[in-house]
Amino acid sequence: MNARPNARLRIEVDHLCCVGNAMCLALAPGVFAHNESRQSEVMNPKGGSREDILAAAENCPTGAISVSDADTGETLFP
Ligand code: SF4
Repeated sequence: MNARPNARLRIEVDHLCCVGNAMCLALAPGVFAHNESRQSEVMNPKGGSREDILAAAENCPTGAISVSDADTGETLFP
C-alpha cells in the first residue's frame, strides 16, 4: 500500500480477460458496471473507497483489473 491514501486512482479493466462474473460489481457497485456485452466498465473511479476498489481488483478471478495512482503512476494492483 502506498503512502498516498487519498490519491486519485486509475482503474482499468482488460476486456480480453474479463469473464463477466460481476465480482467487482458486488464489491464496488458504485465504480463498476457491466456493459451490454456483460463486461465490466469503470463507470465512476470515485464511486467507492480505495479499499473496496482494491478488493474488487484482488478478487477478480482473472486478474482483469489493474489499479494505479493516477498522479504518480505507481502500481497499486497487481
Ligand atoms: S470481477 Fe473481473 S472478471 Fe468479473 S466482471 Fe469484474 S473485471 Fe470482469
